[in-house]
Amino acid sequence: MVRVEERAEGDTDLYVDALAAVASGLAASQSSLAAERLQPIAGRIWHGRLSRPRSKDGASTDGAPRGIAMRGRERDVTPRKRAEVFIRDGFCCAYCGGRVIPLPVLVAISDVFPEGLPYHAYYKSGHIHPAFWFVAPEVDHVLAHASGGTGELENLATLHSACNAMKADVPITDLPPVERAKRVDGWDGLLSLYPGVVAAGETYGTRHHAARYHTDWLRYFGL
Ligand SMILES: [Zn+2]
Repeated sequence: MVRVEERAEGDTDLYVDALAAVASGLAASQSSLAAERLQPIAGRIWHGRLSRPRSKDGASTDGAPRGIAMRGRERDVTPRKRAEVFIRDGFCCAYCGGRVIPLPVLVAISDVFPEGLPYHAYYKSGHIHPAFWFVAPEVDHVLAHASGGTGELENLATLHSACNAMKADVPITDLPPVERAKRVDGWDGLLSLYPGVVAAGETYGTRHHAARYHTDWLRYFGL
């Protein structure tokens, strides 16, 4: 186990590249090759200070079991709309410009490698791989609820969970401009590999989420 307490320069690319290679191995039913490709980031555990507030009613907005932690601000955004925002934004973060991989895709990889890429529904420090913070996106409101922002598509943006936690309640419009050069042509957040990774999880994996979790997300992403 390797303790990780901060996101370092270059971590997003390091994790995205490793996980893309893992996913392509799994989608090709080459689980031992995928395990090898996970090695550079395998077994890392987040011990940092970022926190992910729970919604008051414990309601789930991502199709996961009740009680899964969601940021209060995401509660008026349906999973389908979140998928739509990620696709519209080209699976890149509006804050840092880096690539994102949606949470269900990471969960599907974790289904196969629960020790290499440990997942915890509440993002509990000491129990989750830092990739969930560094790579998975959330939907954030450009203009915050408190300032009258709505849940309409044009007021929503894709942000890494870590970027979202760090920027707190500063509206995106007040933040430095995104470095669009970082966007990657053809990057699809590993969506094209997602069905293959889910299939690998059914063969080799350990399910630790609601039965319909992946079925629902495949539908939200139009797969
Ligand atoms: Zn970011």
